[in-house]
Amino acid sequence: MTDLSLLTETRWLNYINGETLAGDGRAEQIINPATGGILLALCEAGEEQVIGAVNAAHRAFPRWAATTPAFRAGILLEIAATIDRHAAQLAGLEALNCGKPLHQAREDDIVAAADVFRFFAGAVRCRQGQLAGEYIPGHTSMLRRDALGVVASIAPWNYPLMMAAWKLAPALAAGNTLVFKPSEHTPLSILALMSRLDGLLPPGVVNVVFGRGETTGAALINHPLVRMISVTGDTVTGQKILQAAVGGTKRTHLELGGNAPAIVCDDADLDAVVAGIRRYGYYNAGQDCTAACRVYAQAGIYPRLVDALGEAVAGLRYARPLDADNELGPLISSRQRDRVASFIERALEQPHISLVTGGKAHGGPGFYYQPTLLAGCLQHDEIIKKEVFGPVVSVTRFEDVGQVLAWANDSEYGLASSVWTRDVDLAFFLASTLQYGCTWINTHFTLVSEMPHGGLKGSGYGKDLSGEALQEYSVVRHIMAKFDTRFPSPPYPDPA
Ligand code: NAD
Repeated sequence: MTDLSLLTETRWLNYINGETLAGDGRAEQIINPATGGILLALCEAGEEQVIGAVNAAHRAFPRWAATTPAFRAGILLEIAATIDRHAAQLAGLEALNCGKPLHQAREDDIVAAADVFRFFAGAVRCRQGQLAGEYIPGHTSMLRRDALGVVASIAPWNYPLMMAAWKLAPALAAGNTLVFKPSEHTPLSILALMSRLDGLLPPGVVNVVFGRGETTGAALINHPLVRMISVTGDTVTGQKILQAAVGGTKRTHLELGGNAPAIVCDDADLDAVVAGIRRYGYYNAGQDCTAACRVYAQAGIYPRLVDALGEAVAGLRYARPLDADNELGPLISSRQRDRVASFIERALEQPHISLVTGGKAHGGPGFYYQPTLLAGCLQHDEIIKKEVFGPVVSVTRFEDVGQVLAWANDSEYGLASSVWTRDVDLAFFLASTLQYGCTWINTHFTLVSEMPHGGLKGSGYGKDLSGEALQEYSVVRHIMAKFDTRFPSPPYPDPA
């Protein structure tokens, strides 16, 4: 259960140039979405403080970039160990601040965050690249990969510490310095982690500023010394970031929204599909950019799937007094809950859409919304086209493979997708044709640190995790050395 005493263990301050600092901007309330209660008020970092953070990162950059991969790896491993040591506290804060079931925060978010730091500690020590060589005579060419400078990193609220790890670990490993802004809704876990790092990082290498997007975030992305902006968030936010990046020709890394199709063919294992969609359509209350929210079921399996999934979804446990019983948390805010509710209201105005289960906000305290399943949806429906970002799955019936491919790809998003069938040929054909950054076969949702995560189309183009992220946070440089051609050229005399 959520433990309010965790709030007294940390001083909730910005972290700038190695020092903790109260924000001098407007106070923002941090809410527990499971109760609607105010946890604390925290002042935003004002514009001058953001400028100070970027300047500190800029000053710290040359020394940090000159450290060896082994040195930086050592620090990342220490951060991972710190996360492990304080896992209970960090999970508790994540549960308080997001309303997540504590066991999920502990077993999923915190474990994954530590693993990301460990992965990049190893990955930065064994990077691969093109061979050096003489691509014209008398000139040796080699490639370097170097850090960019100050990265402005901006995170959403759905997995606060894990998103921080995705942003910090590859950027630091590659030799950059950062100013990180967590979501204004969920700053607690990263601020607590920073306060536990205890001088591990040289001043200025990582700075954390708290505040809203339009104030603290805007000051950050517009600072001329920021060389790269990395954001995970809504597609509209991504577009604002792009506009800000134009002026300074800043590199951008955009991880934006999603609206994942899950294609269920007639021959799929029904029990596996039901278990998979029940879990991966509703995990984190559907506040996941890869959530299996758009199910396309082939005509032969459609009625059985709707019935079985309806029953399974109706049994999802949430808002129970014993936290360990819960499978689902609330939405992050009353605004987000109301947004989800308005999507459902509009969907149910369509005569062809039927409500299988759910469809209402939960009556008790907190921002819970009932796990909801809609059937009979059609391709042009708003609920199919838009990212709902809540515990809502829609089911659409399809007849043949050509039709479902056209529908699945008919989306402004391109982050994640899945295919459920026992036919290997069909699975690989569909996977090769879907326009999504990831396609799972007979599963959904699972990510690993070793493989890239990121989208295409409106979902952005940044790749998190894996060696790809190290490429994103570095620039390739060509070094060419001319050597004197007075030396004898082959063939050389026989050594005998
Ligand atoms: P959001 O876009 O509202 O906010 C994300 C972050 O951007 C926050 O820190 C916010 O303060 C900041 N921000 C907003 N406007 C800004 C501005 N003008 N300048 C600078 N910073 C600004 O998103 P959210 O509501 O926090 O998160 C939900 C969204 O994130 C969903 O669309 C979801 O799909 C997406 N998401 C994507 C991924 C992915 O891997 N692609 C992962 C998680 C979440």
